[in-house]
Amino acid sequence: MNAPTNVDLFSGAIARLDKAFQFADIDAEALERLKHPKQILQVSIPVRMDDGSLKVFTGYRVRHDDTRGPTKGGLRYSPQVDISEVKALAFWMTFKCAVMNIPYGGAKGGICVNPKELSRMELERLSRGFIEQIADFIGPEVDIPAPDMYTNAMIMGWMMDEYSKIHRRRTPGVITGKPVPLGGSQGRDDATGRGAYHCIKELEKKRDWIPKETRVAVQGFGNAGQSIARLLHADGYQVVAVSDSRGGIYKPGGFDIPSLIQIKNESRRLQAVYCTGSVCEAVEAKSITNEDLLELDVDILIPAALEDVITANNANKIQAPVIIEVANGPTTGEADEILNEKEKLIVPDILANAGGVTVSYFEWVQNQQGYYWSLDEVQQKLHAMMTQEFNHVYDWMVEKKIDMRTAAYAVALSRIGAAIASLGTVQ
Ligand code: GLU
Repeated sequence: MNAPTNVDLFSGAIARLDKAFQFADIDAEALERLKHPKQILQVSIPVRMDDGSLKVFTGYRVRHDDTRGPTKGGLRYSPQVDISEVKALAFWMTFKCAVMNIPYGGAKGGICVNPKELSRMELERLSRGFIEQIADFIGPEVDIPAPDMYTNAMIMGWMMDEYSKIHRRRTPGVITGKPVPLGGSQGRDDATGRGAYHCIKELEKKRDWIPKETRVAVQGFGNAGQSIARLLHADGYQVVAVSDSRGGIYKPGGFDIPSLIQIKNESRRLQAVYCTGSVCEAVEAKSITNEDLLELDVDILIPAALEDVITANNANKIQAPVIIEVANGPTTGEADEILNEKEKLIVPDILANAGGVTVSYFEWVQNQQGYYWSLDEVQQKLHAMMTQEFNHVYDWMVEKKIDMRTAAYAVALSRIGAAIASLGTVQ
């Protein structure tokens, strides 16, 4: 997959606001505030490596806006992490929480590191070291991290433990996406994919899709990509193409997703957390590139990997009539214009991938009250919220004759605008 250039990812992200502003109930001053992140923290994390040497990593945490509640958002480990990317991701979290009507603002963080090169012990020292640096910046009523690209439940568990040690009180609500035995929620692991699945199920009713005749391509086979592929496959959808960072595979008759998941998750090196297999190892499939996958003749295209993969360069070649954005920010503003012109339906990231933060909210609620829910209860609540907010945005789109992304931003802006207005004019 081509590495995204993060230059101006944040400017590209905020450019979406001006279009939605015309359809939203918010005043111009409030809009101006949302174009600037509230706080930015950059830290250096010294880590003793297994060979005895010392490496210093750079980490960030950005709090974009906290008008609607404590800030919320994941932590990403990737060599591409830089301040523009983290600012854009924090900005998207503010709008994601508002579009789902959950009482949070937005934040994001990350460390510039290639996690595939670290042993498990190095990863633990890095993760605990990062919390040591940001411990005064986060907290259950202030800012609540969670997993994102190349972070997982195990890392969230280490981080919660480190924060609790520093503050000398057990604080499960400081972070979500934890292992269940440490206060994590049932159903958090596949929540992002499941949320997107509920969006597709609503569209299925509106568009009369017959699952076994509906072809799907999924770019990215991490946590979210695997879950959405698994749920759609179990429903009878034909998942004809998938990919990961090493490339993609295509099979017109559709893949058996559980066996692909098994190939993908097989550990390749003892002691390394992120050294796994690749979907490219699957036999009886045609090899394709990540770029080819986006341009396939399918009914539903699901970018579930990196930002900025659908650009002005390939938007004209996209054949799928429906795009479900499971990744954050996969489509550039220019590409949006081209795709809207061609009347493609794009279910935007801030709605399509909001299942993760929604179950993170449930996890935090359970931590704060010390009373835990069953998997069934979590999944029912997620289903109810996703369906409600999906249809709310869809109805705005139809009523105001705008694209679905603009409708989602307009709904979110109106909710944030109402909160800012309630604070009075001195703020
Ligand atoms: N990293 C996920 C996202 O981009 C989840 C954030 C959370 O659970 O707070 O939505």
